[in-house]
Amino acid sequence: MLILGFESSCDETGVALVDASGSAVPRLLGHALHSQIEMHQAYGGVVPELASRDHIRRVLPLTDAVLAQAGLPLSAVDAIAYTRGPGLAGALLVGSGVACAMAMALGKPVVPVHHLEGHLLSPFLSADPPEFPFVALLVSGGHTQLMRVDGVGRYELLGETIDDAAGEAFDKSAKLLGLGYPGGPALAKRAEQGSATAYKFPRPLLHSGDLDFSFAGLKTAVLTQVKRLAHARPEGPATPQLAEALDAAQIADVAASVQAAIVEVLVKKSLAAIESTGLNRLVVAGGVGANALLREQLNAACQKRRVRVHYPELHLCTDNGAMIALAAGLRFQAGLLPDAAAAPAYHFDVRPRWPLSELG
Ligand code: ATP
Ligand code: MG
Ligand code: FE
Repeated sequence: MLILGFESSCDETGVALVDASGSAVPRLLGHALHSQIEMHQAYGGVVPELASRDHIRRVLPLTDAVLAQAGLPLSAVDAIAYTRGPGLAGALLVGSGVACAMAMALGKPVVPVHHLEGHLLSPFLSADPPEFPFVALLVSGGHTQLMRVDGVGRYELLGETIDDAAGEAFDKSAKLLGLGYPGGPALAKRAEQGSATAYKFPRPLLHSGDLDFSFAGLKTAVLTQVKRLAHARPEGPATPQLAEALDAAQIADVAASVQAAIVEVLVKKSLAAIESTGLNRLVVAGGVGANALLREQLNAACQKRRVRVHYPELHLCTDNGAMIALAAGLRFQAGLLPDAAAAPAYHFDVRPRWPLSELG
């Protein structure tokens, strides 16, 4: 069962081919990615219309590259998967349109995939794949959730952010520090030179007794601190010029202190989820899962408690096509795909807003 997968929910065009034959964990045969980060950088964030147009430009050359890597013709593909949502409507429509058109031309089924299920299952492509059941910490640019995962398609939400996502907290703080977009990796890099105890930023909901998160207040706290360091008026606007008044050591200290605050909350809540479920396995997925401090602290805490922790490979933490093809493959192996071959439905079906809880 060869599955070609397309990811186009935001600012990465990803294409991949997996082999989901038999019952072994699906194997990646080819994988190509184009990130639009550079294109959007000038605007300080993703411009949806530009994103859609660029997906159109990239998707077919990337597909050719993936098939060349695998040494297979398009006709060898048995099913075509694409990200149905959540994401930007126009961007999703590109992946959906291309997937449906190709599937229709080949007479093969098309498989809509939930983007977060892709992230969630991405550690199955690592050298150390997890086993069910496990607790999952999904930390991406738009989501921060703790889940109990009992199998493919069996996801129970334990807690989630009530406002900003962890990735958003990294990105917004980075923006205030003049570190560009998306600022997570840049902030982590600057933090290496700083002191994590230089500034005491809030750890929201740390002792709330539930598994929810809140990161919106962190942005205000960082802004207040940056204004103080820049000798700006507390009631003044948040302009990109503020950070220019800071020296490199101050930026590094703020970066290290914010990162420490975000990571501490993520680690403590993950451990609380482990404790409340009684499970002994943790899976971390999504872009923030690439963060070195988060990995270091989770590894240390989990080792102490004899909890196994699994991550996606570093390059598969952020958006990619491999996780979409993989999720379709795992669904196929679990017998969860409808018999699309019997009556394939080729409609351009996207869901820009799509809670994982509504996934069957
Ligand atoms: P979603 O999956 O929720 O729709 P998304 O697809 O934009 O959102 P991802 O691609 O999973 O999110 O991750 C991108 C996020 O990960 C960004 O917020 C980025 O700053 C953050 N990120 C990536 N690498 C790191 C890192 N090393 N440290 C901290 N944050 C990081
Ligand atoms: Mg992205
Ligand atoms: Fe994502």
